[in-house]
Amino acid sequence: MKLVSVVVPCYNEEEVLPMFYDEITKVTDGMTAKWPELTFEFLFINDGSKDKTLEIFRSLADKDKRVRYISFSRNFGKESGMYAGLSNAKGDYVVVMDADLQHPPEFLPEMYSYVSSGEYDCATTRRTSREGESKVRSWFAMKFYKIMNKISQTEIVDGAQDFRFMTRQMVDAILQMSEYNRFSKGIFSWVGFRVKYMPYKNVERPAGTTSWSFWGLFRYSLEGIMAFSTAPLALAILFGILGCAASLILYICAIFSACNYGDSAGTLAIIGTVLLVGGLDMICTGVLGQYLGKTYMESKRRPIYIASETDETYRSKKQGA
Ligand code: UDP
Ligand code: MG
Repeated sequence: MKLVSVVVPCYNEEEVLPMFYDEITKVTDGMTAKWPELTFEFLFINDGSKDKTLEIFRSLADKDKRVRYISFSRNFGKESGMYAGLSNAKGDYVVVMDADLQHPPEFLPEMYSYVSSGEYDCATTRRTSREGESKVRSWFAMKFYKIMNKISQTEIVDGAQDFRFMTRQMVDAILQMSEYNRFSKGIFSWVGFRVKYMPYKNVERPAGTTSWSFWGLFRYSLEGIMAFSTAPLALAILFGILGCAASLILYICAIFSACNYGDSAGTLAIIGTVLLVGGLDMICTGVLGQYLGKTYMESKRRPIYIASETDETYRSKKQGA
């Protein structure tokens, strides 16, 4: 038997939850009919909703034994919801998906066939269009991915989503990343493994509203940059070098005008000195920043490596097959 845990973080989703439950059970029933070895559990996370989300969880738990839920004491954000779900899921496979049906359950059978074939450790959807999104938002999103992939070693795939079908092995790797400031797009990619991207067109929410404002997203993208790159700390060094270079030019000008025109060029020399001192100061700050960046990354206590296979797992898999 193989257990699949479906993790669903929910924040004020009373309007779509009943619809979601109907859709997901329809799909999972179809999957158990096709693959009799599959059983499911649904792990809902109530992220401090202010509506009837929790009541709906309770009534679902009353009528369906496969339904489990965790209710937070307040709103902690979707990242915390996903972490709670992943760390409490018992399945051999774990699915993470939104409650708002923007992650269509119809993808699950295909995702399962990719992951169960042993060819992939994770199947996920990737948005190929940003229809239904404002132009400004799309532009910022595009710039974000460009900058992020330039300054971070971790590849962040444009359009990749938090809709994932993963093996237990990959989930355990993600849980090893126990950092507090979580940026899932980065974490999913950091742990590696073989990922199948399935192209998909954006769909609108059937009910309820998105909880992301433009500024919310903007802050989240800064969070992502800070979590996976220390490049901004190096900016001080860059400014410092520019300041020193400018001071050098001013000194040369001062010497040149003193030699050729005989004036003392005091102003130029003073500005040059100010720039030099400021520039050196910036460089020192930048050097401090480099050490701070290293300390910051160390303090996350990320695993030093993640193995995907060893002779032991190979042998036990062969015995099991
Ligand atoms: N969500 C959550 N906590 C939050 C905000 C959102 O658990 O603080 C959930 C929400 O219920 C939904 C998913 O995260 O299942 C995605 O949220 P949303 O649809 O608002 O985001 P979008 O699809 O617009 O990116
Ligand atoms: Mg949504």
